[in-house]
Amino acid sequence: MVAVVNRDKCMYCGACTSVCPKLALELLETRIKVYADKCIDCGLCVKACPVGAIRLEERK
Ligand code: SF4
Ligand code: SF4
Repeated sequence: MVAVVNRDKCMYCGACTSVCPKLALELLETRIKVYADKCIDCGLCVKACPVGAIRLEERK
């Protein structure tokens, strides 16, 4: 599984980037970039997001 950000819901608060233990999320100017190769499927970002904008999806 890998973290996926819903860009329509995300409000760029940065909460997810702060909790990620692998630095797999980066707050850019207009979106959150996910480094899928770094994500370890821990789910911390999903719990940290105040608006439910992150989910874990099967890797393609
Ligand atoms: S699931 Fe864990 S490792 Fe992956 S992006 Fe979220 S906090 Fe980081
Ligand atoms: S915690 Fe949720 S709303 Fe905040 S930047 Fe991350 S994905 Fe966006």
